[in-house]
Amino acid sequence: MSFRALLAVWMSKFVTIGLKIMGRGATSLPGVIAQRVYLLLPDRLLRQIDTCVIVTGTNGKTTTTELLYAMLHSDDEPWLVNRGGANLIQGILATLLQKTNWRGRLTVKRVLLEVDEATMRLVLPSIRPQVLVLTNVLRDQLDRYGEIDQTIMLLRNAAWGADTTLVTNADDPLCVAISSINQKPVFFGYAPMESTDETSVVDLVSGNQVRDGAFCEKCGALLSYERYFYGQMGIYACPECSFKRPELSFAGRVLDAGTAASQLCVNEYAATQDWRPSEDREFLVPNPLKGLYNAYNLLAATSAARTLGVSPSRIAEASKRFIQPLGRMQVFPGHPERILSLIKNPTGADSVLSTVAQDAREKMVCFVINDNFADGRDVSWLWDVDLEVFVENSPSTRYVCAGTRAADMALRLAYAGVDRLDIKIVDDTEALLLVGNEEALPVYVLSTYTALHPLVSLLTHAQPKEFRGKAVSAS
Ligand SMILES: [Zn+2]
Repeated sequence: MSFRALLAVWMSKFVTIGLKIMGRGATSLPGVIAQRVYLLLPDRLLRQIDTCVIVTGTNGKTTTTELLYAMLHSDDEPWLVNRGGANLIQGILATLLQKTNWRGRLTVKRVLLEVDEATMRLVLPSIRPQVLVLTNVLRDQLDRYGEIDQTIMLLRNAAWGADTTLVTNADDPLCVAISSINQKPVFFGYAPMESTDETSVVDLVSGNQVRDGAFCEKCGALLSYERYFYGQMGIYACPECSFKRPELSFAGRVLDAGTAASQLCVNEYAATQDWRPSEDREFLVPNPLKGLYNAYNLLAATSAARTLGVSPSRIAEASKRFIQPLGRMQVFPGHPERILSLIKNPTGADSVLSTVAQDAREKMVCFVINDNFADGRDVSWLWDVDLEVFVENSPSTRYVCAGTRAADMALRLAYAGVDRLDIKIVDDTEALLLVGNEEALPVYVLSTYTALHPLVSLLTHAQPKEFRGKAVSAS
């Protein structure tokens, strides 16, 4: 390592020590300063990694990464992970620096990285992952990334490479189109059953949701769907050419959806590729998460872990112990009970709303909509959210809007058919605590990214003492 690179590492360490002395927590500042001193530092550190797994895609990156980390990491085989959605280059660098010694050497050789789609191009020249997990490709923050075609090009570039196994979603035609460039694609997908609880989950989410990319990537014809699951995901085939949902290596079904006993039943199909086990098998994984979209995250993590040779029993054990990342249907018990969830794009918001709609109780729904850079400056996506379906299915719901774009959200709700008397705008997020207090109605707080962490601490402190520390993942 060059003197300049070493200097950058030392600077970051001094800054970290300084921050600790001042009582400040981990920030991205050490990484920012280190990169100022030596621009190529991320490259120098990434090149030291032996085993690299990358999780990318539009939705579900953070939950999938956290689940996969729980399945992979052990004291004997430690993995390094960038936590909490720190998926831009600064966050990745800050994570690597935590495990870099004074001589500039990484002390952990296995790294699991959640990487934002646009950041892939900064990471890939330095490292090719052994396993690339692509969760889905949905419309997201269009003003940051440009159109969806550009995202696809970035991901195609990421999936290219003889040494990379692509683990991706067969139900998403865009993922499948991207996979054609990969030599070792492994497909997971949803296997609906005829008539049990989870059918209702599917039915609820299969309204008229946004379905970008529901065209054949080969010939441009409109795909015909046998089943829709969520977004453009489903069982599909092109009526004009051979493009269709590929054979699954991992097929998942949700048993007892929405209950504490919920499980993901995974069927694993052997194929000719050498890394896979030689027999078909079926195993159960406890499903600690709410919503079909989260079942996809669990299936993605399970498929990646199996691809990396983790045993089904260890996967099940990790999932059982799993604690939901902050603000992903995070429940704050109390009177009223509050449930916090991130929303950031139409498909994600539709999935969250379909989960909220399954709660038949009278309830409050608060939207906290900001338009800071990390949220995406353009809030026109609110108009693509399928609020009409939600409003129709949830008649006894009242609404509160907060955040820098509260008025836009209120207008959107009015257009979706909500009576104006049922919509309230509050100036600051603290006022949200008064919402639902009198009647002790459950309060769902749906927030964009920059309001999420302030809300977590606000809601935690608002809990009565007997409930403190009991914020739990949704059961
Ligand atoms: Zn076609």
